[in-house]
Amino acid sequence: MFLLLSLCVCGLLLRGDAQDRAALWRGNDRSGRCQYTFTVPSPAEASCPQTGGPEVEGLKARLSLLEVLVSRLTGGDTVTTQGTGARAQPGLQEALNRVTGERNLLQGEKRRLEQELEGLQRRMEEMRRETERLRNRPCPPQAPVVQPNPSLQDSGLMRPAGGSSQMSHLVNRPDRQGDSSSLRDSAWQYGPPGFQELKAEVTEVPAPDGSEDNTGCGELVSVGEPVTHRKADSIAGKYGVWMQDPEAVSPYGPNMVWRIDTIGSDVRQLFGYEDMEQLSKGFPSKVLVLPELVESTGATLYRGSLYYQRRRSRSLIRFDLASETIAARRDLPHAGFHGQFPYSWGGYTDIDLSVDESGLWAVYSTTKAKGAIVISQLDPHNLEVKRSWETNIRKNTVANSFIICGRMYTVASYTAPDTLINFVYDTETGQGKSVSIPFRNKYRYNSMIDYNLAQRKLFAWDNFHMVSYDVRLGRQQAN
Ligand code: CA
Repeated sequence: MFLLLSLCVCGLLLRGDAQDRAALWRGNDRSGRCQYTFTVPSPAEASCPQTGGPEVEGLKARLSLLEVLVSRLTGGDTVTTQGTGARAQPGLQEALNRVTGERNLLQGEKRRLEQELEGLQRRMEEMRRETERLRNRPCPPQAPVVQPNPSLQDSGLMRPAGGSSQMSHLVNRPDRQGDSSSLRDSAWQYGPPGFQELKAEVTEVPAPDGSEDNTGCGELVSVGEPVTHRKADSIAGKYGVWMQDPEAVSPYGPNMVWRIDTIGSDVRQLFGYEDMEQLSKGFPSKVLVLPELVESTGATLYRGSLYYQRRRSRSLIRFDLASETIAARRDLPHAGFHGQFPYSWGGYTDIDLSVDESGLWAVYSTTKAKGAIVISQLDPHNLEVKRSWETNIRKNTVANSFIICGRMYTVASYTAPDTLINFVYDTETGQGKSVSIPFRNKYRYNSMIDYNLAQRKLFAWDNFHMVSYDVRLGRQQAN
């Protein structure tokens, strides 16, 4: 009885189970074709005599497809390449960032230089227009006063110098009426009469000099601290040359100070100041427009003439200040120019002219000298070379040079605040030797150093600043 009851229950359970397990299968076969399979369990057989069937086949097909997919995702060349690329990507990105940064920096620098160039061109154009305008103005009968112009202060403005000629490029600003708005320098607070008196007093006071042998012509013993006279107020004055004529010729007096700002490709203006004080105030009394462009900071003055190197050439020019004409022109034989043999700071400082007790000198180099400094004494009248000396000092290893009493001295550095005068060459003996005389580059970019025979000082142009140094000379040596 119990057994019969159990069979009935199992039969019901199997029946219900069979009904629940009937199913429709759908899946791709091995070829990817969709296949439908209806399955229902056998109501009588506990197990099939063979395994497999559509259900297993379908599972196998799906498994195969999954294997293919997994294989694609985890193996093969493509994955390997992607892996390498992923590893290389950070390095490439870093390089790209670096290149992009450098490009941005260069673009910024380019924009800055373009702006600077535009500023320079604008300034030159303003100066040219102002010069033309001033030239066309009639001179007043009495013109002791000149007004500064903001755009030209310190570089284009002037009071009349004594002895201006009809041919002169002297430019006067005769009328201060209605122009008071342009006054921006307190220096102009000085009234004309008082100013003239002050100037006269200054003229009569002898300049202090630290040398005990001021009248002798011995070897350089020491150089004093730099004294600042004026700071150029535009980029055009970062480099330049300033000088005095040790043997001034009428119409200019011995106190006249001259200056050329040498930044730019159109350097041809020579500014004259009646004395050091006017230079310090930035009030030129004279502007001469030179007929030939000036190259670099090697110009000098002697006996009423400006001597300078014509731009992009080895031609030397003697420009007569009184007649404002070229009095002589001659090539300096074999001299390098326009960057062939400059001083260490560059600046096309190939030919450096100067004057000392024995006359006019040129310091330069030639291909034959292989860059070593050549010193030539020049005839100041016709610029012919009178005599030359070849040293064994490479010109581009020194910052600058100057000549005192026939001895050429070289300065080691143009940037080091505390550097040395490191070499002297005596043209009297034809011998050179090392020396160690302290020299100070106060503003750390000294672009011109020359002996100023008129004041027996060194004049220098140090990073916009016109400075001078007292020098102390020893006694004349017996040899
Ligand atoms: Ca020099």
